[in-house]
Amino acid sequence: MANSIKKIGVYTSGGDAPGMNAAIRGVVRSALSKNIEVTGIQHGYVGMIENKMLPLQMRDMANIIQRGGTILKTGRSSEFLKPEFRTTAANNLKAQNIDGLICIGGDGSFRGAQALWSEHQIPIVGIAGTIDNDVYGTDDSIGFDTAVNTALQAIDKIRDTADSHDRIFIVEVMGRNSGWIASRVGLAGGAEEILTSDNIIPVDKIVENLKNSRARGKTSSIIITAEGQKPGRAYDLSEAIRKKSGLDAKVCILGHQQRGGSPSAHDRILASRLASTAVEALLAGRKNIMIGIQADKLVEVSLDIVTTKEKQGDKSLINLARLLSV
Ligand code: ADP
Repeated sequence: MANSIKKIGVYTSGGDAPGMNAAIRGVVRSALSKNIEVTGIQHGYVGMIENKMLPLQMRDMANIIQRGGTILKTGRSSEFLKPEFRTTAANNLKAQNIDGLICIGGDGSFRGAQALWSEHQIPIVGIAGTIDNDVYGTDDSIGFDTAVNTALQAIDKIRDTADSHDRIFIVEVMGRNSGWIASRVGLAGGAEEILTSDNIIPVDKIVENLKNSRARGKTSSIIITAEGQKPGRAYDLSEAIRKKSGLDAKVCILGHQQRGGSPSAHDRILASRLASTAVEALLAGRKNIMIGIQADKLVEVSLDIVTTKEKQGDKSLINLARLLSV
């Protein structure tokens, strides 16, 4: 397979994340510098099925490294879950003479990539782009650092008003099954409690802790909760605290702002490193893998492993946040 690739396709898929543009730029410029043509596929698997593809040149990548979102757009495709639509997608790719793909997305997008490889033998290398940082096999994902910093800026502002009024605030951050944003931002933002899907704290305990911290002289408190299966968990928690104790906990749901904004330096650097290594791997004949980062080293992980194992949260950050928020 080595040296047989002349044209690659690149797409962003699933949830968008700041730094996806830096990754596209990294892929396109790395490939073109090796005289490999690049086609951009729009809206992820939607564009693959509907043949929405365009050639990408060096200058198309100008001035996008600092932009949030994705110039290729992203998408979710229920059709792509069906083999017959994946065949349509594969035929479209073959008609465009695309010999290999770089997928920028999360674990759902990688499952799609894996299916394209196993059913149609299209070589694919993935790089993790998701604010949730929930992809197995990589310590970090593109967009995570930016999302944490976006949430932190909001929490710092909330602390000002919480302090002025001696209030308790429950701040809801993104992360359905993943507590990574919550635990990072909770530690960095000085939260007293951090609730995630794998760190559920009974309301009685939260009330007891809040009362104890008031008794110790604390006048305001921040509780961070990951959103859970659907946004609004913070309102349920506030209501439960009120019913149990009469304490009034204000709610702030940060929502989709965490997906947007200019990517941090960290995410631009991560995206650039992952992208160029992914192109090198694809050209070297590697397939059905993700390029991840572990202990600051770039690594290859089979998509079979990435898509079947679950990444665990980091409980030590939650414990440290609790210790330091006394
Ligand atoms: P993310 O990549 O951010 O995890 P999703 O889970 O929404 O996002 O997945 C993005 C897209 O990947 C889906 O809309 C679907 O088209 C495709 N996909 C997800 N799971 C599969 C699967 N098991 N087989 C084929 N395609 C899949």
